[in-house]
Amino acid sequence: MKNETGAPLLELKDVKTYFKVSGGILKAVNGVSLTIREGETIGLVGESGCGKSTLGKTILRLIRPAGGQVLFDGRDIWSFSRAERKAYTRQVQMIFQDPYACLDPLSVIGDTVAEGMDIHRLNADKAERGKAILRLLNDVGLNESHVNRFPHEFSGGQRQRVGIARALSLTPRLIVCDEPISALDVSIQAQVVNLLKRLQRDMGMAYLFITHDLSMVRQISDRIAVMYLGSIVEIADSEDIYLSNRHPYTKALLSAIPIADPTVERKRERIVLSGDVPSPVNLPAGCAFAGRCPNACDRCRREAPSLREIAPGHLIACHLAE
Ligand code: SF4
Repeated sequence: MKNETGAPLLELKDVKTYFKVSGGILKAVNGVSLTIREGETIGLVGESGCGKSTLGKTILRLIRPAGGQVLFDGRDIWSFSRAERKAYTRQVQMIFQDPYACLDPLSVIGDTVAEGMDIHRLNADKAERGKAILRLLNDVGLNESHVNRFPHEFSGGQRQRVGIARALSLTPRLIVCDEPISALDVSIQAQVVNLLKRLQRDMGMAYLFITHDLSMVRQISDRIAVMYLGSIVEIADSEDIYLSNRHPYTKALLSAIPIADPTVERKRERIVLSGDVPSPVNLPAGCAFAGRCPNACDRCRREAPSLREIAPGHLIACHLAE
């Protein structure tokens, strides 16, 4: 179900994140424009290496873009004063793919959850800190018995709950969730997605939900952006992406999702993409998808399609979208 979403919170305007590599310039994010509103969830999907995580890091101010702007509450995050930077690191948090790799194995869970609060001195004393830790653990379905345990004593799903509690500890307005469920069993994935949805209903934060898996993202996203080789090729309301998608790449991604009903699964057409993904160091002229696209024509190889609105809120970068 769609959230009631509010004013623009984070705006990306033609963001370009490039890296110098031995063969030239790697264009990881190549001109992305996107707005995330208060309380909204945007699913950002695409194959690994398409620039999704780099875009997440650019939003988190971990990488400075080579071009374009990232605006938060209308202000460029690279023009922030020191105090504003500190406030930004509180308001924009991240949940990682592998919760185990980012939990300190030598710290008990209570201290891990409290780390951000300690840095920002959010609690007046030890008693208040203890209460805050307990409240956060309860929010994510853990309890008092977990406070003094170490990460190795937890299952993958529980560790991801700890990662979520840690992100929540600073009452963020936006959480970048970078493949938060890909390392988990399917049954646990649904639990974590439901937890994230409930927390959003209760606390009203926005999510950028980065994933390569289109099956689960439908359940949590208000809108979905499909990314290919550093650019957004289609963006629309979640249901429109599933029911009225137009970009050949979106169609191919969706056709790869297994369907539980064996009769439907047997009948449907699977689109298998041929051709190699071009190198982001040496992008071809024209549409970057042309080498793999079943509909590519001469114009596609000459001219790059721009992202344009073909129906209210539905944008697509393809010459043949209409
Ligand atoms: Fe395919 Fe051409 Fe559309 Fe690119 S612009 S997705 S090559 S039809």
